[in-house]
Amino acid sequence: MYIPQNVKTVLELLEKAGFEAYLAGGPVRDLVMGGLPTDWDIAASSIPVETSALFRLNGFPVIETGLKHGTVTVLSDSDAVEITTFRAEGPYSDGRHPDSVEFIKDIVADLSRRDFTVNAMAYSPAAGLLDPFGGIVDIADGVIRCVGDPEERFREDGLRIMRALRFASQLGFDIEEKTSDAIRSEKSLLAAVSPERVQAELKKLVAGRNAEQVLLDYPDVLGIVIPEILPLVGFDQKNPHHIYDVYTHSVKAASNVPARPDVRLAALFHDIGKPPCFALDEQGIGHFYGHPEVGAETARGLLRRLKFDNRTAEKVSKLVALHGYRPEASEKSVRRALIKVGEEDFADWLAVRRGDILALAPEYQSELDGLDEVERLAIDILAEGECLRISDLAIDGKDVMELGVPEGPEVGRILDSCLEAVLEGGLKNVREELLDHAAGLRGGDAERDD
Ligand code: ATP
Ligand code: MG
Repeated sequence: MYIPQNVKTVLELLEKAGFEAYLAGGPVRDLVMGGLPTDWDIAASSIPVETSALFRLNGFPVIETGLKHGTVTVLSDSDAVEITTFRAEGPYSDGRHPDSVEFIKDIVADLSRRDFTVNAMAYSPAAGLLDPFGGIVDIADGVIRCVGDPEERFREDGLRIMRALRFASQLGFDIEEKTSDAIRSEKSLLAAVSPERVQAELKKLVAGRNAEQVLLDYPDVLGIVIPEILPLVGFDQKNPHHIYDVYTHSVKAASNVPARPDVRLAALFHDIGKPPCFALDEQGIGHFYGHPEVGAETARGLLRRLKFDNRTAEKVSKLVALHGYRPEASEKSVRRALIKVGEEDFADWLAVRRGDILALAPEYQSELDGLDEVERLAIDILAEGECLRISDLAIDGKDVMELGVPEGPEVGRILDSCLEAVLEGGLKNVREELLDHAAGLRGGDAERDD
């Protein structure tokens, strides 16, 4: 297995000092699956103060942030290597350095406390691979399976329920039957898990490559932490645009947008305002007037409850609010769309629009062509550095005051009117023309004031 030299050096230093040390958990799973780990987590027999002293003595920067939890971070070249003392069921260390048989017991005990077989392997160049729970076979079969009895493991820590869904989504694995049954029978345990921990797993879940299947299979489980989605499940839209219930449509939309948590969440929640806005017309067709705005509030509320940062909550909420906005494919409309949506969110807004359409009945897919045109126009407008804001105008407040307009709100109104005229396409964003236009407005106002 490929391990970079800087990480090998950390393992070797621990071993030379008489400790046992292995890569454990995530990095071993990633290496076995042929990927390059993002984190290099090491499990070692040294206690944190020993780990810290050893690496400081060898000239490595050491961060002692996790001392209480047994973790020390060592900076080795560009990598932050986390070294955690073996954890086991009880306090069985008598203070002596145990012999090597004891060490093996320690690492296996450490692995036995881990959540899933695929996450419960250890490796070191010296000892090779330790796989006491069949992680290799489960990786080969693409299976998420608890280490030990699933119900017990979920009762110990309800977050593992979310983690099972997260890994199934991220790795594209199936959840083994007993584990899956326990997820359903113990799902209410999730209610007691801290929102921050749920949030971290949720972000990875929705951005995973198998998110569609996991979201479709486990709405009842997600509904413990996001009860707002439950009314969407099975909700018949009674509308020819739709071939799916609201939940299925939402999940399909989410799987059709780029795999980033914020855009995925916006697509997943884009129709969350539909159930309370449902109304049937005389022909028996369902409508949902006002649902984007209602949904934007619902999404903001649930993201805040899950302690998402403000930026994400506001962005997702904005994308939900604007998911039904349909600017024409004309320069004028797209200029306004750029202002309304904002240049920074435009690509994500387009992505959500497209994701939504892709999850509609096949005969409505032609709307995608219009969006392609909107995107091309937006690129042109931005490329030409066209005027979209007051600050883009070729004149400013000082120029307006030099025309004899006294400082005050009138200056702003004149600038707004200039911008309006430029956006409408009747006026060029050229200094002379703008000054003429502004002077005309000043004249008009002066007459009216007399
Ligand atoms: P990622 O690549 O996303 O970081 P990871 O497997 O490293 O995945 P972490 O959350 O970083 O996941 O956890 C590191 C390891 O710690 C896991 O591989 C697993 O062995 C163990 N672990 C983490 N959380 C739990 C938990 N709640 N219960 C049991 N073991 C856990
Ligand atoms: Mg990790």
